[in-house]
Amino acid sequence: MKYILFLIFVFATSFCTIETNVFICGSTGAKKYHYNEKCRGLSACKHGVVKTSLKQAQGYGLTICGWED
Ligand SMILES: [Zn+2]
Repeated sequence: MKYILFLIFVFATSFCTIETNVFICGSTGAKKYHYNEKCRGLSACKHGVVKTSLKQAQGYGLTICGWED
C-alpha cells in the first residue's frame, strides 16, 4: 500500500512539474520567474506580466524569484 502511494506521489509530482505555469515580467529581459501572479517581485514590473510554463522559463535561464521558495 505504501508503495502504491509512493508511485502516485511521484506521478503527481512529475505531472505538476510539466503543467506548472509561472509568470515573468515581459517576454524578454526577465531574470526571475514567479509562481504567484501577485508576487511583490512582479508588482514593480512595468513591461506586462507574461504567463509561461515553468519548463520554458527555466529554458530561458530564469531562476525562481527571491521572494518565493
Ligand atoms: Zn515572485
